[in-house]
This record gives sequence, structure tokens and C-alpha cells, in this order.
Amino acid sequence: MLREGGLVAFPTETVYGLGANALDARAVARIYEAKQRALNDPLIVHIAAPEQLEQVADLSALSDLQRARLDALAGAFWPGPLTVVVWRKASVPANVSAGLDTLAVRFPSHPIAQALIRYAQCPIAAPSANRFGHVSPTTAQHVLDDLDGRIDLVLDGGATQIGLESTVVNLTTEPPQLLRPGGVTRAQVEAVLGVALAAPVQQNDESAMPAPGMLTRHYAPRARLVLCADEDALLAQHAFLKGQGELVGALLMRDHARAQATIHPHFVLGQTLEEVARNLYAGLRALDAQGVSVILAVRLPEVGVGEAIADRLRRASAR
Ligand code: AMP
Ligand code: MG
Repeated sequence: MLREGGLVAFPTETVYGLGANALDARAVARIYEAKQRALNDPLIVHIAAPEQLEQVADLSALSDLQRARLDALAGAFWPGPLTVVVWRKASVPANVSAGLDTLAVRFPSHPIAQALIRYAQCPIAAPSANRFGHVSPTTAQHVLDDLDGRIDLVLDGGATQIGLESTVVNLTTEPPQLLRPGGVTRAQVEAVLGVALAAPVQQNDESAMPAPGMLTRHYAPRARLVLCADEDALLAQHAFLKGQGELVGALLMRDHARAQATIHPHFVLGQTLEEVARNLYAGLRALDAQGVSVILAVRLPEVGVGEAIADRLRRASAR
């Protein structure tokens, strides 16, 4: 199907991707159409071996220092949830990277993703397999809930392991930029590079976005998401919003015993940050499906994968 220009959703260790042959401009255009994705939001190209990078990226355009950084990151985190932004080869259709000269590339660790790329015999362009702006899918059912009838196939590999999107690092700038926190933590990347990552400029003006995919509101459920400082604040918000006639649900930690006894419906994310990352999107989707008008959640420490969790909660709660 991929070789014939079709759209195939598949599991990766982060979230489910919606794949098309990255070298087929028409197939890539279908991804944007199926997702109703903004045309200025670039895709990530998935490869099945580090050497395949040269098929899609112009590595000669990197400086020696940038090349050394690329090799260090690939050596440390590939296969895995790290995406690097390098220079796009002219032979790769421009719509893969929304017209940018740069290209985002990742070598996923999921065995089904790897096998799919190898059998297809082409690099696979794949954003998350959800409607644009919505919560990313971590199961095949999530993919169907958003895209059934708009795609050709979904490979069901069960629930994804990490549950949040990959970390995106731009290697074409000095110093490199952290474009999106994700499965690999900032500290892990900085330790390998030996340099502090710069923050990208945050903007919500689509015409002037320096790096697309940075919309303030993204990863969002239908219900309004309200972040609270702690369990007490969450219980107080619950009482207040119920008084206003809202249908209130909550995303809770395992030790939030009082909130679990008080707030229905609720969804228990787990206790560690890794568990929260894995279950966050399923929780947002489950509460949405129960028709709540507001979802309450507690702010978590922004350490390790907590930085990516906070980033997603911030964007999901933006109006
Ligand atoms: P998705 O796979 O739907 O999570 O989207 C891929 C994300 O990767 C985009 O939203 C951007 O944040 C990022 N990205 C992809 N390509 C580039 C690029 N060339 N420059 C900057 N960011 C990129
Ligand atoms: Mg996405």
C-alpha cells in the first residue's frame, strides 16, 4: 500500500504514526488531507537504519561540529524517541517539510515500525495519526476514532510504550535548539552534546512561525483542561465548577485517594512520570468520551520526561 501511494497507520514506541512514502509528493499530500493538518506543519521522516539518513538528508551541508553532534546523538539515542532536524535533500519532496529547507528525521525502535519501513523499501513520512490539533493516538482504536474512512490501513501493535511524541532537536542552529521536549529528556541530550539547548521562539502567528508545529493550542481534548497546583486545589476547583453546572472529570495520580473518592468520572494515570506519559493521551480521550465539559489535572514536576508532560498539558489547556 505504501509503495502504491497509500496511507498506513502504524505503532511506534512514542505514539501511532500516519505513514506515507516520503519520496512520493502525492502520497505525502494525502497525509495533510486525511489529518486536516495545517500545510505549514512539517512531518517527520522515519528510517530503518542510521545509514538511510543520507537518502533523505544533505549531510554535506552540516559543519564538522554539527556532523559530530549528529553522530553523537544517533549513537546515543537511535533507534529511539529522538528526532533530529537537518538539511533536506533536494530529491525529497518539499511538502514533507512544509516547504522548509530542513527535514526532521527519526529512526524508531518499535519492531513493527522498523519492519514496515524495511518492507516498504522507502523512508516513511509520518506525523501522529490523529486529526490535526487533537490528542495523539496511543492505540490502534484511537487512530480509528479519529481517521476511520480517511486512511487505508492501521497496523495494530497494542498500546505504545512511551505515550508522548519524540523529542525534536534542531542541529542546523548554533547552539542546537530543543524544538519539542519528548521521550528523550533535555538533560540526556545536553549530556551527550556537552552544550545547553536553546529554546525556539514561541509564536502563534502561523505566517511567521520559524519552526512550524509550535502552535500554542495543540494536543487538545474537546473538553476544557484546567491545571491545578495540587490535590487540594483540584478538589476546590471541582466543587466550584460543579456549582457552575459543569460536568467535571479529572486525571489523577494513584495516591490522590480523596479526589478518586469524590470526582466521577476520573482516570488514574499512575504514579511515576513515565506512567503519566504513557497514559496521558488515553486519559484525555477516555474523559472526552464520557462527555465531560471540563477536565482537571494536577501540575507535575518539570524534571525528566516531566518537561514533555508539562509542555503537552500547557498546549492542551491553551484556548
Ligand atoms: P507530529 O509527528 O504530528 O508530532 O509532528 C511532527 C513535528 O515535528 C512538527 O509538529 C514539528 O514540531 C516537528 N518538525 C518536523 N519537521 C521539522 C522541521 N523541519 N523544522 C522544525 N520542526 C520540525
Ligand atoms: Mg502530532
